[in-house]
Amino acid sequence: MIRLDNIKLRPDESEQNLIKIAQKRLKKPIKQFKIVKKSLDARDKNNIFWVYSIAFSDEPEEMKQPLERLARPPKVAVIGSGPAGLFCALRLVDRGVAPVIIERGERVDERSETINKFFTERVLNTESNVQFGEGGAGTYSDGKLNTQTHDGLNRDVLEYFAAFGAPQEILYLNKPHIGSDRLKNTLKNIRGYIENRGGKYLFNTKFIGFSAKDGAIKSIKIKDAATGEEGEIEVDCAVLAIGHSARDTFEMLAKSGVEMTARDFAVGVRIEHLAHEISLAQYGKYCKLLPAADYKLVSHAHERTVFTFCMCPGGVVIPAASESGGVAVNGMSNYARDGINSNCALMVQMTRGDFGEDLFAGMRFQREMERRAYLLGGGQFKAPIQLYKDFKEDRISSRLGEVQPTYAAGTEFAPLNEALPKVAVSALKAAIPDMDRRLRGFAAPDAILTGVETRFSSPVRIERGGDLQSVTLKGLFPCGEGSGYSGGITSSAADGLKVAECIYNMYKN
Ligand SMILES: Cc1cc2nc3c(=O)[nH]c(=O)nc-3n(C[C@H](O)[C@H](O)[C@H](O)COP(=O)(O)OP(=O)(O)OC[C@H]3O[C@@H](n4cnc5c(N)ncnc54)[C@H](O)[C@@H]3O)c2cc1C
Repeated sequence: MIRLDNIKLRPDESEQNLIKIAQKRLKKPIKQFKIVKKSLDARDKNNIFWVYSIAFSDEPEEMKQPLERLARPPKVAVIGSGPAGLFCALRLVDRGVAPVIIERGERVDERSETINKFFTERVLNTESNVQFGEGGAGTYSDGKLNTQTHDGLNRDVLEYFAAFGAPQEILYLNKPHIGSDRLKNTLKNIRGYIENRGGKYLFNTKFIGFSAKDGAIKSIKIKDAATGEEGEIEVDCAVLAIGHSARDTFEMLAKSGVEMTARDFAVGVRIEHLAHEISLAQYGKYCKLLPAADYKLVSHAHERTVFTFCMCPGGVVIPAASESGGVAVNGMSNYARDGINSNCALMVQMTRGDFGEDLFAGMRFQREMERRAYLLGGGQFKAPIQLYKDFKEDRISSRLGEVQPTYAAGTEFAPLNEALPKVAVSALKAAIPDMDRRLRGFAAPDAILTGVETRFSSPVRIERGGDLQSVTLKGLFPCGEGSGYSGGITSSAADGLKVAECIYNMYKN
């Protein structure tokens, strides 16, 4: 395999030119090549280019060997079908284990209908929504697959996604993303694969408790959302991949004696700009030749660090509540990222000094912010919004500028400082003009702030030991973001693979 690095193409050049450049460098003809890395170098706006690594070989590609399978597989329940649970289940079926997947929300198609109803008629289903249902919290996202590295389990995650219908470019782009539209089909393909290999999904089914013997889990208790009927499933292992919004389940686990600790987290707002303005600021004259621009900013202008998170180029702000009487927002985009606005979370780090020391103080703090946002929005899940120019002067906005809010359930002008902690308000006021120094237009007077962004990460950690099992209950494997072991789609999915491998290793002899 020959590899050529650092090949540069201008944004207006065709990828077909890669072959010509490679032939010139190697001084021999090449028939086929494969892109192994592609990133955008936009450090100098007047000289932007794509940078590629390509590989080619005359030999046929080596086939991947199938994984070894367990001869006597254990009985495994995977609780939660977000990236952590789903990828755990995927790897388990590849290892010969047929898990049962317990998911409180609906299958992705029905879930989409329920969510559309919430967006348009403001009828919330507290069991199936943007946080809960097939695919978990990431289904209605931008589908960014950010990784620090494309090696090891992260690589496996990207390869599984690509094999089940995600765009192939995720295997080589340095900032890969799927988009919510493409992600939904990928989830259905994964479901088909798992079911064909003996795995079983129970949708609309909530995990409500467990029984244990000699410090080890023996069965899980479940409840059917439609009939209210309860049942019990015997297990050797249960993978707890419940995400960061399963507040009722966290409470049940704590009451049942599962060891948990409080965690710090961040809270904030979404900020929306015109996508074209962001692209112009980032790419100058090349902006029309390139996909909608993203950004990542940090400000230390205030004693509290403020950072941008989950940027959605050409995306929309979405209603992301999972509880009645609370407004929570997040961001989503489709693969094409071709919406009029771009949005991003603007987060301020909170500590236990802000919300209290007890286990659920952080959860109450998040819930209280969501309740205040709900009241400021006038009820019915409308979100409170404020133009940046008014936020900085503590004035309620009275009319929109060029930027129109994309939050589908309706918005109301309101003073966001009444929903946010005081320290967050002053930190945001210091950070936005500071960030504008690095990204011109970030502090545009008509940029829209929408409140509140509270579901950034889990307010608790379910403690697990070196064997990845709960420190108080053997056979229970806390996994993914809700348990405090990952953040984002890729790392949660990678944690799922790690737990599946751990179960395989426990039973392989
Ligand atoms: C709108 C939005 C956009 C996002 N965009 C991105 C992005 O672009 N890139 C990125 O990397 N990350 C993004 N994230 C974050 C990402 O989605 C999460 O980090 C990731 O989904 C966490 O995976 P998880 O499997 O640990 O938990 P989750 O995805 O939260 O999945 C947990 C699952 O468990 C189920 N569950 C909970 N309790 C129970 C119970 N008692 N019984 C049965 N089932 C239960 C839930 O219904 C849910 O399906 C976004 C999140 C949101 C909400």
